[in-house]
Amino acid sequence: MKISNITTHILSKPLDEPFSFSQGWVTKRSTVIIEIETNEGITGWGESLCHGLQPPEIAASFVNNCFKPLLLGRDPFDVEVLWEEMYNTTRPFGGGAAVNAISGVDIALWDVIGRVLNKPVSKLIGGTFRNEIKPYATGFYRKEGRSYPKAGVEEAKEHLSKGFDAFKLKTGFGVDDDIEYVTAIREAVGKKPKIMLDANCAYNSSQARRLLLELESADIFFFEEPLAPEDMEGYKEIKNLTKTYVAAGENLFGKIGYRHWISRKALDIIQPDLCSSGGFTECKKIAALAQAWNMSVVPHVWGSGIGLAASMQYIASLPSAPLSLNAGEIYLEYDQSDHPFREDLIFNAIQMENGKVNISQNPGIGVEVNRDIIEEYKVDVFK
Ligand SMILES: [Mg+2]
Repeated sequence: MKISNITTHILSKPLDEPFSFSQGWVTKRSTVIIEIETNEGITGWGESLCHGLQPPEIAASFVNNCFKPLLLGRDPFDVEVLWEEMYNTTRPFGGGAAVNAISGVDIALWDVIGRVLNKPVSKLIGGTFRNEIKPYATGFYRKEGRSYPKAGVEEAKEHLSKGFDAFKLKTGFGVDDDIEYVTAIREAVGKKPKIMLDANCAYNSSQARRLLLELESADIFFFEEPLAPEDMEGYKEIKNLTKTYVAAGENLFGKIGYRHWISRKALDIIQPDLCSSGGFTECKKIAALAQAWNMSVVPHVWGSGIGLAASMQYIASLPSAPLSLNAGEIYLEYDQSDHPFREDLIFNAIQMENGKVNISQNPGIGVEVNRDIIEEYKVDVFK
């Protein structure tokens, strides 16, 4: 089997109502979908994560200019060989953006392999530790004209009414603001729901320390990206201050990007993003490193239905650390914020029932892509 074509589809749509997080305003939702065709008529799909403020053209440019010439005519079953070659040829770019782009290609290659073998990807990367996952709701972005913490309290109640019993609050709007906001939401929802926080790197270790200590009674499950990823020493300063787990990973790339964070025990939970930290090939290795240090993996997920479905295949294959009769659950991050095509891009969008989502047993990443939606939202600057 040979790769006969690779197409990048840049999808983008302005939001009717922009929303903000600690680093700025998100005015549109964009992503890079990668389609890999083969000479035997099997097509695979992948996605490279596009964060709220970064242009999707970067990943698409890597794929079109660096990876497509390398991969055409090659066997998709050489997926690890191809990963290493893609990484090797883009090493001078420094890892991050290149690995983000490699991720979408790698996911599409595994989708091809799964479709050829008629197996879900999870069965090809070690098997399924679980057939269903408990999702937690991501949202709580801030919008113009709303009053906070009131709007946050209303959103929390909305997620609970849909069946979620865990959600992640956007923080990083100032320590005092965050303390008032988180306290108000905890008081409104009671003790039972799990609450996570995400500051998107807005603080230094002194500010994060004050926030963690002031919010100790709010019983926060984990605190995501309190600090910038350049500040490993800062993370180590705050990690064992309170019972709240300290988490990060959406801005770390590849096994090399993760190795010291794991080996130096700088985090309680690592959060590789399948669509950005290296795809199935590399994220399985990152998980193996974490397992060797008995560290939990709760992946970061923030994309379209393609990335979400692929991430569920990855999560299915993750052992809990350690295995036990009542091992701590690995959550699925399930973005509930505005997205014009997250669900519509695939025909069989995930459904939550009784607070859980089933992991697809269909071949590959388990989705059929709606090409009409690709055409509707496509912004192809490379035509
Ligand atoms: Mg985050």
